[in-house]
Amino acid sequence: MGNIESLPVRSDLVGLKPYGAPHLDVPVQLNVNENAYPLPGEVVESMRAAVDAHFAGLNRYPDREFDELRRHLVTYLDGVNARAGSSVELDPSMIWAGNGSNEVLSHIVQAFGGPGRTVLGFTPSYSMHPLITTGTGAAWQSFERKDDFTLDAETVAAEVARVDPDIVFLCTPNNPTGTSIGLEVIEAAYENCSGIVIVDEAYAEFSRPAKLSAMTLLEGRPRLVVSRTMSKAFACAGLRLGYAIAAPELIDVLRLVRLPYHLSEITQVLACTALEHAEVLLGNVDRLIDSRNRMSAHLAEVGFDVHPSDSNFVLFGNISSPQELWQKLLDRGVLIRDIGIAGHVRVNAGTEEETDAFFTAIDEILVESPGILAAEPAVAAERQ
Ligand code: PMP
Repeated sequence: MGNIESLPVRSDLVGLKPYGAPHLDVPVQLNVNENAYPLPGEVVESMRAAVDAHFAGLNRYPDREFDELRRHLVTYLDGVNARAGSSVELDPSMIWAGNGSNEVLSHIVQAFGGPGRTVLGFTPSYSMHPLITTGTGAAWQSFERKDDFTLDAETVAAEVARVDPDIVFLCTPNNPTGTSIGLEVIEAAYENCSGIVIVDEAYAEFSRPAKLSAMTLLEGRPRLVVSRTMSKAFACAGLRLGYAIAAPELIDVLRLVRLPYHLSEITQVLACTALEHAEVLLGNVDRLIDSRNRMSAHLAEVGFDVHPSDSNFVLFGNISSPQELWQKLLDRGVLIRDIGIAGHVRVNAGTEEETDAFFTAIDEILVESPGILAAEPAVAAERQ
């Protein structure tokens, strides 16, 4: 950032760093947890046809309440819950949507956070949770997870009771660790505070076998809100469509902070079309899970510490210099993410070819610089 001292900027923003995943044009991009596969041709064709019918009407504002999109989301989510064994049925009045789940999260924090309020998160977790919080003027408090990055109900209950926050962020599967939490952890957070409990389920579709969503806890819990996105499993990161599910009263409050007509006509039409093709778009999830599992196995085999992941990325450690590993991979055309956790980096599951290219690069680097491993690999030591 340039020199901002001469500007009358809010004092609480001075010194903060903007979200900053490097956007580099390299052959193998495994750094921002996207779906590695492009949209299938049949979906592209349907999207083209659907949008075509809406061009002449762009002189009008879009549907401010995005009713059609809400109905499409309910159909998709009722299916998700039924497949996981739940009989929960949602209503369109329980759905909110925005330009990515980042916008949805920011609506929630604008409405329930703000100056004088406290937001709690369990770190390491998604870096935008604190940035969205401080953007509203609320205070961010974080609780460090244990070394294995798991979270249990007792820990969460105690911390939530101690801080008594206005908002608690829980993320499952958690970015950047890949760790999931059980519903009992969410219940523990809810029962131990009087604030809003946000469960960020951006990567939920990558959990296999499917876990019950926090959506199944909504009945009788008006302070609970679940956020999800079409950016990951749905392969629509460029579309910008995220959504939240909560009691109708909570959704009503979000109308106070959104800008009018925040979801463009084109966004709404494309998102509805994508949801009509949910099965095809989600068709690559199994392949990405295969890539993720292959990555975990390979990285462990060559001596890294691999954290179990329920998502489309893998966090791995036992690295002497994450920055050096990041650079050496980049030199070989592979972009991963140094997320600032000591001794660790994160890589996302690529296509079969991208995953193979990553292995080739990693193997070369280990031959050239074995010292990139912080300690002797445990597996190799056992074999001797
Ligand atoms: N939540 C989590 C945990 C994420 O990792 C991300 C994106 N990296 C988001 C929300 C936001 O994604 P989007 O705005 O594309 O929906």
